[in-house]
Amino acid sequence: MNEFKFKCPHCQQSLKCEDDLCGETIACPTCKTDFVVPAPQKKIVVVHMRKKIEISPGDSRTESGEA
Ligand SMILES: [Zn+2]
Repeated sequence: MNEFKFKCPHCQQSLKCEDDLCGETIACPTCKTDFVVPAPQKKIVVVHMRKKIEISPGDSRTESGEA
């Protein structure tokens, strides 16, 4: 588990927690305000690219309801 640092959005207190708490709601130990743990700032790669849709050539007769 990796710890990462972030700031409380309410009191700007520097906090630290494990990255598996990302997205969880916690209470700031300083101001006691509940907030959602943000994603770690480091190594974040947000890719805003359209998903590449690959269609196998010659397989255009796929119908819905497969499996
Ligand atoms: Zn706080």
